[in-house]
Amino acid sequence: MKPATANKAPVFDAAEIRADFPILQQQVNGQPLVYLDNAATTQKPQCVIDAIGNYYSRDNSNVHRGAHALADRATQAFEGARRTLADFINSPKAEQLVWTSGTTEGINLVAYSWGRSNLQAGDKVLVPTLEHHADIVPWQLVAAERNAQLVPIPILDSGDIDLDAFDQLLDERVRLVALNHVSNALGTVNPIETVIKRAHAAGALVLIDAAQAVAHWPVDVQALGCDFYVFSAHKVFGPTGIGALWGREEILDAMPPFLGGGEMIDRVSFDGTTFNTLPFKFEAGTPHIAGAIGFAAAINYLNGLDRAAAAEHEHALLQTTLQRAAEVPGLRRIGQPQQAAGIFSFVIDGIHAADLGMLLDQQGVAVRTGHHCAQPLMAHYGIEGTVRASYSIYNTMEDVESLFTAIDKAVQLLS
Ligand code: PMP
Repeated sequence: MKPATANKAPVFDAAEIRADFPILQQQVNGQPLVYLDNAATTQKPQCVIDAIGNYYSRDNSNVHRGAHALADRATQAFEGARRTLADFINSPKAEQLVWTSGTTEGINLVAYSWGRSNLQAGDKVLVPTLEHHADIVPWQLVAAERNAQLVPIPILDSGDIDLDAFDQLLDERVRLVALNHVSNALGTVNPIETVIKRAHAAGALVLIDAAQAVAHWPVDVQALGCDFYVFSAHKVFGPTGIGALWGREEILDAMPPFLGGGEMIDRVSFDGTTFNTLPFKFEAGTPHIAGAIGFAAAINYLNGLDRAAAAEHEHALLQTTLQRAAEVPGLRRIGQPQQAAGIFSFVIDGIHAADLGMLLDQQGVAVRTGHHCAQPLMAHYGIEGTVRASYSIYNTMEDVESLFTAIDKAVQLLS
């Protein structure tokens, strides 16, 4: 993909983008790989793979404390990566961007640090029924410890949040609302602006789980007005094992450390320890330096694309998928959200999702099957799991066609 230039908008061409991703140029089970498991993890462009390789072959060193050239280079690259990420989400300051191991750790950090020091007996945390387990279980654990309550926000059968029910639940005991921007299981794009406004009006903070969102649209945490924003690199063309937590400065400042150790301290003595400033207060131990550098390379890659055209392309893939799905007898889409990102979750009457997934794999088509870490959502629909095809910028209309050719074949074999 050609980088953006000042005068010329880059042309969006999925086939050209695909060429940047070496893993996609292979055959699986004797068939060209059709990778439709992007909600689980995205593939990495060559520039991300190179950034990580170059770091290890030229600059590898520990950061912040070394008095030598490599340590200096590693520190510059690591803190430069933080600035890239901060700019990407329009954070007022780079210090508000805390490295984590991913979305899961980001939510746990907020639950344990903010939750333990702010939730009182009888307080409530609200999460929609469609949340990923990563945005349910940490709150359950901390709520149990604090005698607080985790309360589900009901959803409609469409897979949208029931906003009237949400309003009913918003009382003065609600301290935090945590929700994903995009459901990984259904693709629902949640009305986070509305939720943030209503939660703030009721005096609650809002955490946005953006794991599924950042790869699809530009983000502006200041315009959103949320209090915490968490995401993972691996879902946005970066490496695994690294993610980011963004928070409002005054809230992060007031929060106690989550993990203790090196880097996060100011002064340590057996009489007591004082802590480092943001963001280091939350970054105990040696960080995932190569991960942060790879993450920034992924963001630079994304910044070079025409994001609006990419979003339109993904939308077109989903629309074609919905049209093709209507032609498959017994196929039932799970949820009909008002607005959906490039995720298509479905079941076929009489066919187990895992069997279908296996037969698709044999034809080179990679999808995910199961509960997608959203068991309460599956319980809402009275199902065990779904088959999920999830699209990214490098998928093409041919991929959609391959999916349905493979589904037709699998259905013939299984019925
Ligand atoms: N939230 C959502 C909406 C997700 O899709 C995922 C990953 N499936 C997570 C949280 C957890 O992300 P990670 O495993 O990268 O921590």
